[in-house]
Amino acid sequence: MSEEKSLNFIEEIVEADLASGKHKTILTRFPPEPNGYLHIGHAKSICLNFGLAKKYGGATNLRFDDTNPVTEDTEYVDSIKEDVKWLLSNENPWAQELYASDYFEQIYQFAVDLIKKGLAYVDDSTSEEIATQKGTPTQPGINNQYRDRSVEENLQLFTAMRDGKYKDGEKVLRAKIDMASTNMLLRDPIIYRIKHAHHHRTGDNWCIYPMYDFAHGQSDSIENITHSICTLEFIPHRPMYDWCIEKLEIYPSKQYEFARLNMTYSVMSKRKLLQLVNEQHVSSWDDPRMPTISGMRRRGFTPESLREFCDKIGVAKRENLIDFSLLEFCVREHLNKIAQRRMVVFDPLKVVITNYELGEEILLSENNPEDENGGERNVPFSKEIYIEKDDFMEVAPKKYFRLAPGQMVRLKSAYIIKCDEVIKNAEGNIVQLNCSYISESKSGSDTSGINVKGTLHWVSVAKAVPIEVRLYDRLFTEENVAAAEGDFKGYINPDSLTVLPIAYGEPSLKEATLEERHQFIRKGYFCVDKESTPDKLIFNRTVTLKDTWAKVNR
Ligand code: ATP
Ligand code: MG
Repeated sequence: MSEEKSLNFIEEIVEADLASGKHKTILTRFPPEPNGYLHIGHAKSICLNFGLAKKYGGATNLRFDDTNPVTEDTEYVDSIKEDVKWLLSNENPWAQELYASDYFEQIYQFAVDLIKKGLAYVDDSTSEEIATQKGTPTQPGINNQYRDRSVEENLQLFTAMRDGKYKDGEKVLRAKIDMASTNMLLRDPIIYRIKHAHHHRTGDNWCIYPMYDFAHGQSDSIENITHSICTLEFIPHRPMYDWCIEKLEIYPSKQYEFARLNMTYSVMSKRKLLQLVNEQHVSSWDDPRMPTISGMRRRGFTPESLREFCDKIGVAKRENLIDFSLLEFCVREHLNKIAQRRMVVFDPLKVVITNYELGEEILLSENNPEDENGGERNVPFSKEIYIEKDDFMEVAPKKYFRLAPGQMVRLKSAYIIKCDEVIKNAEGNIVQLNCSYISESKSGSDTSGINVKGTLHWVSVAKAVPIEVRLYDRLFTEENVAAAEGDFKGYINPDSLTVLPIAYGEPSLKEATLEERHQFIRKGYFCVDKESTPDKLIFNRTVTLKDTWAKVNR
């Protein structure tokens, strides 16, 4: 029986619109600007837009909001498409792949329409003059001399703008609304500017480009988007959105706003993420420490867990800061169900099992206790094994259930051993333990008579596979990075990456694939990094087994 979840406020709006017959079906869009890689905030928007369409039998367009030629690039377009497909686990999630730049001619015609209606004018003022004339929130702006240009003159000047007769910034086209409006964005907003720049799709066809407020709503309308969902900072833009639709008499798309996702110990702005990449604080957009979708993917987060996270946080109307641990919780929950268990020793201590005379034995170990169909794998056992250095204490306190002189432990999926002798080098450091094993204690046999509390992971020395392990931590030390004083880069965690050049893994790890998820027993969840090769296996720690952060750092 599935749990009935209450509707979020956008679902309520959609249900009302469908019930009243206002819409027969819904069409949403996800409108990324291709000026960076997608981050977890975008994931929220993707889940919301695609989720609504899925729930109510509608569709979603992927529309690249590519109206700013300077910062946009096809590398970003490709990464965005890849990330959306991955996040939604769907090769064809969008109804149509569209580009605002494909509407440039039509948007230009919309501007011409406004001019003809006496609702737009060409302004020769400098940007400083425009800013001054605009007034302040408490003081109305002033109408300048260009505002009363005739329709003919405006048409002729706007054509000349398009034809490249002017330099960048020499003229702009403004909507003629109200210089005294209490909404500053309605004080004759600029709708077209001159920019002699190459566009990644339209090349050099255009030297004038529409502003966001004269491109976004128009694109929604051209596509007949029913519910145009954006983040709260666009609330003051909504009157302009509606004004354009009304004056141009085009399809009445409606804008709705929800709170953007902000997360602790993260930044959620493409501009800042780009700085981290360009200034090499991280290796790339998909560095596993980045809050980007590609970074999280590389780190081993699953699309299911990201979707679960987006679902859990819900759709809010007020800004808030979501705890990064909630995302990690979702990741752990999913990985616990799907991860293959493996044994890896990070910091080895050699154990010689003095009474073991079988040479090598192949033992079976379950791949996943959470999955009855998970099967088993072969794990070689031999006279010499590695255990973790910190699983042994020469002088152990009471209730120490790991290995100590005279004490017994179980080796996972193998035998019970007892520590008989501690071998030290000349400096007095422990270099080896001599142990004996109980041959009747093989995993699965009845050992009820023996009192052993601890179980250790181990690997056979002869068959151990050296792997590189990359341990990640929070990228920032500050909980609310955006609100912290000064440059956000001052809060970068210097210990966000720890590389263990050699850890010792069981041989089955040689077969690990990029898509697989692993739990290194007692260590955490791991996945193969994309830089891994058969000669040099590299694993990323996705997340620790428990939330250790809370205890250590607060
Ligand atoms: P950034 O601040 O990272 O530059 P943006 O809003 O400029 O983000 P766009 O590419 O324009 O980036 O965003 C595409 C869509 O994703 C928009 O609809 C935007 O509202 C939404 N979006 C962006 N950031 C977030 C966020 N943190 N939470 C929820 N939705 C977001
Ligand atoms: Mg944007």
